[in-house]
Amino acid sequence: MSTVKLERATLREIRLRLREPFVTSKGVADERRIVLVTLEGGGLEGWGECVAGADPSSPETPESAWRALEASLLPRALGRDFTNPSELVGSGATTDRMAVAALEMAAWDLDARAAGVSLSVKLGGTRTEVAVGVSVGLQPSDEQLLEVVAAYLADGYARIKVKIEPGRDVDMLSALRERFPTIHFWADANASYTLSDVGRLKELDALGLELLEQPLAADDLASHARLRRELTTPICLDESIATAADARRAIEQNACDVLNVKPGRLGGHAESLRVHDIARASGRPVWCGGMLESGVGRAHNLALASLPGFELPGDISASRRYWERDVVSPELRVIEGLMDVPSGPGIGVEIDADFLEARTVRKCIITARPQARAGRMHQGQ
Ligand code: MG
Repeated sequence: MSTVKLERATLREIRLRLREPFVTSKGVADERRIVLVTLEGGGLEGWGECVAGADPSSPETPESAWRALEASLLPRALGRDFTNPSELVGSGATTDRMAVAALEMAAWDLDARAAGVSLSVKLGGTRTEVAVGVSVGLQPSDEQLLEVVAAYLADGYARIKVKIEPGRDVDMLSALRERFPTIHFWADANASYTLSDVGRLKELDALGLELLEQPLAADDLASHARLRRELTTPICLDESIATAADARRAIEQNACDVLNVKPGRLGGHAESLRVHDIARASGRPVWCGGMLESGVGRAHNLALASLPGFELPGDISASRRYWERDVVSPELRVIEGLMDVPSGPGIGVEIDADFLEARTVRKCIITARPQARAGRMHQGQ
């Protein structure tokens, strides 16, 4: 077991251009704000990414994550020795979990590099490639959905996940099943239904959906358990699983068949491993969700998805699914529904330093001096 001393950190915000505008209730964005953390120690670097801002309903934003990392998380971590990255953040962080995840995951990358192994190996991964699927947002019409799905199938994705909401569900999914009789497909409701919709949701059972994700409110495990008794389609929880304790409760209450693990939201890899272990002990499979990550976060997700309990295809996707150009080189690719798990040290991808610098809008370097403030340098635009 290696010991790493954290000497220096770089906090950086980049703006990455999306291939297609991202439409939310708050408007249309053609680029994404991403906060990245680089940790240095022993002549090595580790990289982590903050997923704040991917979901407009999230309590964390790039701004709040930056503040938490700059003011407390990074100054507290620097100068410390660690043999396990989870020591740096403690367990069960209750606030700023996305900011914590950026630091924690950078420490895992650094730790794996110090040990000279891939992050996949460090985490206990057993696969060299993982099956991946794609998540398709609500389209303006059912015809457009069929076109979009046809294009992703041509790109080789192993399964298609479609967003649904009340009124855009049974007919839309029936048309999809009729056009593509044999595809593996899932539906994600993002908590948009209530138990009064049980009749409509039961109609989905006839469509051969492999999974229905988060049909009901995130904090309502009891209703998920009741719905689960009514449906034959397996139920997966996503928004309900913010901590490993949530996973334990969901399983104890029989509220789900499957769990979606998002390391960037759970506070990092250590908490994700706990969810994986709890689910596996109960015989439930997990899969790795995505939160609009750049290649840095995507490489972390690939390493995690190589663990044995990740039996279902993740929402990991190729770089080109979202980005005009990714910050890693070469870009991450999907071939026949599979992505290679990087085998080089740490997250195993090269950062395109020139491109990263060109997309950086602000940067802050924090060093492990006794007076943390004296060691902080700002560079902004
Ligand atoms: Mg989801």
